Amino acid sequence: MIAGNLTTEEIKSHKNAVAIIPFGAFEQHGPYLPLLTDTYIAESIASMVEASNPTGVMLYPAVWFGDSIEHDGFDGTLSVNAFDMMHVLQNLFEWLAKSGFSKAILYNAHGGNVNLAATICEEFSRQSSLKVVSMFAYTPAVRARAKDLFGVSDTHGGSTETSLLYYLRPEVQKTKEKTIQNLHPYPGGGLLSLYSVRELSENGVLEKNVKITIDTVKGKALSEVLVEALTHQVEHFPGKGKTTVQV
Ligand SMILES: [Zn+2]
Repeated sequence: MIAGNLTTEEIKSHKNAVAIIPFGAFEQHGPYLPLLTDTYIAESIASMVEASNPTGVMLYPAVWFGDSIEHDGFDGTLSVNAFDMMHVLQNLFEWLAKSGFSKAILYNAHGGNVNLAATICEEFSRQSSLKVVSMFAYTPAVRARAKDLFGVSDTHGGSTETSLLYYLRPEVQKTKEKTIQNLHPYPGGGLLSLYSVRELSENGVLEKNVKITIDTVKGKALSEVLVEALTHQVEHFPGKGKTTVQV
């Protein structure tokens, strides 16, 4: 069910559903993707999962902003720091619990939110009848599939994210090019926890490949693994516990 389309009376009879809150960011994604990329991805995948199981899922609107401190210096980015973001999420979870839900998934598609999401979900769930699983969209299975498809699971604004979003939201496509020279290949290795994106890449893209591939057929194939992972989490709630992975 779509929570926002129900009345306060109607929602009462769906408290056994798993509430899903998509969680994204409003941040620069290089020259080929829009600012709301992560939010769109979380929202689109969660909508597909809800559509295939409307009685089992209560889909809430996305939290469209996150902690994007690493993107300081790029115009357009809006960010809330990790401490304040955790308070915002805690408030939302408290209201979900008051509404009678006992199962929720914070479905996050932004790497910069992973640690804060894991922390607040764990802290909150220990003290509440509502258990909230923090799920990062890019599970090990998703990343392995991305590597099969693109040769690498890129970090930000590169082949996988661009192909995925261009499939999910064709209306936001910025280029018709299928192959683009990567001006600033990113070596990876956790540098993002120590440096800003601006220091690592002038155009804001973080990808190891020297060429960026945009392929919506591959984007569709990847989206199927994302849907499968979230569907599994809903059907086996709370699953094996933590579903977050480090980026
Ligand atoms: Zn992103």
